[in-house]
Amino acid sequence: MTVVRVALPVPLRQHFDYLIDANAQVQVGCRVLVPFGNRKLVGIVWQLDPNNSFDSNKLKPVVAVLDTDPVLPALLCQLLSFAADYYHYPLGEVLISALPALLREGRNLADYQPKAYQLTDNGKQLDASTLKRSAKQLALWQTLLRHQLTESALLQQYSRATLKQLIDKQLAEEIIVPPQPFSAPQIAAKGLKLTAAQAMAVTAVTKAFGRFERLLLEGVTGSGKTEVYLQSIASLLSQQQQVLVIVPEIGLTPQTLARFQARFDVPVLCWHSALTDSERLHCWLQASTGAAAIIIGTRSALFLPFWRLGLIIIDEEHDQSLKQQDGFRYHARDLAIKRAALHHCPILLGSATPSLESLHNALSKRFIHLPLPDRAAGQALPQFELVDLKQQVLQFGLASQTLAKIKQQLAQGSQVMLFLNRRGFAPALSCQECGWLTECHRCSAFTTYHKQSRQLVCHHCGASKAIPRQCGGCGSTQLKPLGQGTEQLEENLQQLFPDVAITRLDRDSTRRKGALHQALEDIHGSGARLIVGTQMLAKGHHFPNVSLVVIVDVDGALYSSDFRAPEQLAQLLTQVAGRAGRGSCGGTVLLQTHYPEHALLQDIINNGYASFARSALLERQQTCLPPYQHLAMFSAEAHQTDPCQQWLQQVADGIAAVATVQLLGPIPAPMERRAGKYRWQLQLYSANRSSMHQALEHILRLVSSWPLSRKVKWQLDVDPTDLT
Ligand code: ADP
Ligand code: ZN
Ligand code: ZN
Repeated sequence: MTVVRVALPVPLRQHFDYLIDANAQVQVGCRVLVPFGNRKLVGIVWQLDPNNSFDSNKLKPVVAVLDTDPVLPALLCQLLSFAADYYHYPLGEVLISALPALLREGRNLADYQPKAYQLTDNGKQLDASTLKRSAKQLALWQTLLRHQLTESALLQQYSRATLKQLIDKQLAEEIIVPPQPFSAPQIAAKGLKLTAAQAMAVTAVTKAFGRFERLLLEGVTGSGKTEVYLQSIASLLSQQQQVLVIVPEIGLTPQTLARFQARFDVPVLCWHSALTDSERLHCWLQASTGAAAIIIGTRSALFLPFWRLGLIIIDEEHDQSLKQQDGFRYHARDLAIKRAALHHCPILLGSATPSLESLHNALSKRFIHLPLPDRAAGQALPQFELVDLKQQVLQFGLASQTLAKIKQQLAQGSQVMLFLNRRGFAPALSCQECGWLTECHRCSAFTTYHKQSRQLVCHHCGASKAIPRQCGGCGSTQLKPLGQGTEQLEENLQQLFPDVAITRLDRDSTRRKGALHQALEDIHGSGARLIVGTQMLAKGHHFPNVSLVVIVDVDGALYSSDFRAPEQLAQLLTQVAGRAGRGSCGGTVLLQTHYPEHALLQDIINNGYASFARSALLERQQTCLPPYQHLAMFSAEAHQTDPCQQWLQQVADGIAAVATVQLLGPIPAPMERRAGKYRWQLQLYSANRSSMHQALEHILRLVSSWPLSRKVKWQLDVDPTDLT
């Protein structure tokens, strides 16, 4: 017997040693089944024969070795180990979370490999007359005598029963045929004729192949970033290298997938949350065997085991969905950069509105900066016009000049998009007599009135309830919707424009399977149409018939305490506006506000995102905020407020005693209560990454021994993006 050290998916910052047969074929990165308490857990072998093991008499033996080859290859192990250190998250949980669910559950990989059937030695030597009573068996036997058959090919001609009969007679056997790596595309793909800026970008990317390099493609909306991706990867594919493309949400932009599939004669696979467990495992296998050439996926595609990774592309690299917001809170962009470094391959980040972090890296020359300042087919960028809402009589939240412009564009047969970042019918119901508002009893928030589903829904904890008949304050029955959401805007627009087709795009309208697909089809059809939606409209769509974008209400977002709010708002406005004028018709953006003189709006309108972002960076530098300082945040939640505050104070005291880290807090979170729990936070700032790291290491060693740690639910977020 010898010892193996195993990482287990438990919230403990340690490994566990087990005994294993000295002759067992086991490698680091393989799964093992081990006893843990009174359960059995799937763990990952992390070290063979550790020399500082405990007394081996006390160790328990491994129940089973589940893999012959590592499910986590060496480079992926290195990436995940780095991630566990960087985010201070237990390694075992990080490793296991990188595997598809079926492997996490301990399923046998071989069961999911493509299978084929061939004759056994017995079968080959058989005298055909032995089978003359069964024509079906004879036919299958004769085919197998000529060549083996894959499972799918076999089942097209023969039944499973016939196959089973041959196997039972030991005439045929099952074999596993590992998928073969993709072959280099035969025909050179034809692309569009590149603009000068696109051509420079493609040259820079292709020059970086074979080594680690970071590139930022800062291309305005409609500048043809996707064309740059496509033409960059052509030569990689001919060298049989794989490409990983990470996108915010695949479902929203099926066009991107279609463009990759149409361009190259190689297998392109998708990876996203809507796949079933076996589809995920299939994709995982295709990536690891090299059968897939291009994988387009959401953030967790980052953890797929690639056969030969040649390039990582992160499209819309500013998008907030790249950061996981619970549990193992990693940032896919940052880990992708680490992964590229480990694979000695380049990484290309693309966005019209780069994050301030990436822009900072580009401006300080850590990243190669590739600007695409103009739209690809020569269209002008959309023109912004501010609509001052002060002292205006509004009709359904729309100013008269907005309505006139909408009418004009519809009359010309164009499409008009109205952006309102609030789903539901109204943000609350309000009592006409005493002003009472419908609130969530578990959160510090109002509940949104959903008219179609006849419910009040809390958008923070998901709680829903029936619509009350009476005011909870005075008992009056005069309850009216307060404010406007997309559901109401759609209803109102239908009244104003009874003959115009309307498509609403938000999480409610697209919940039903196939609904999103239908909505996108409708929009791509021709003719006048109104499109109403939330930030779903901001995501990379190419709707060439949209000539006018109306931003119905931004005022709520202009004054926020979160230092990232201006960046996020500027990105959202630019992305939404960027849907206008992408076809041959020009584009206009009407921005309705009560604060037309607001500095952010003025900057975006007059100078564009690029200018805004550069001045925002300067401001971050002057106020010592990220990316000029590193930020980490502890948060604590509990049914009472005191334990949260006390626990965070203990953290603050522990850190203050040792490190040069600045502390802000403990303070109540901006959203003080959510899902029945009080929420507090403690922010840590440091100019020095290693001081921050040491402070976190130090405190995390202490917290497990504090009795108070069991009274709160605490979390650590390194480089948090969500401070609510
Ligand atoms: P982005 O991703 O930068 O918003 P897209 O890649 O969607 O832009 O391109 C916008 C439109 O411009 C697409 O219809 C695309 O076919 C077109 N396009 C891209 N590059 C060129 C080019 N070099 N010449 C002509 N049209 C182009
Ligand atoms: Zn009332
Ligand atoms: Zn709630």
